[in-house]
Amino acid sequence: MSIPDGLRCPKCGSMDIAEIVYGPVEMTPELMQRVQLRRVQVRNELKPDNPPEYYCNYCRYEWRE
Ligand SMILES: [Zn+2]
Repeated sequence: MSIPDGLRCPKCGSMDIAEIVYGPVEMTPELMQRVQLRRVQVRNELKPDNPPEYYCNYCRYEWRE
């Protein structure tokens, strides 16, 4: 789980990006901190087909590489 260096939102160019993680996941202190920093977005739902991997905190666009 990590966001590639220099990754930008393909829509607005923001670097304020979160990685989307599908649950259930164990909420470790490290993960919690990354969620609070908006580096990770946890979704407790069944992983869809071709799920988006990244989420733009600025314009809410979702995409996968
Ligand atoms: Zn964006």
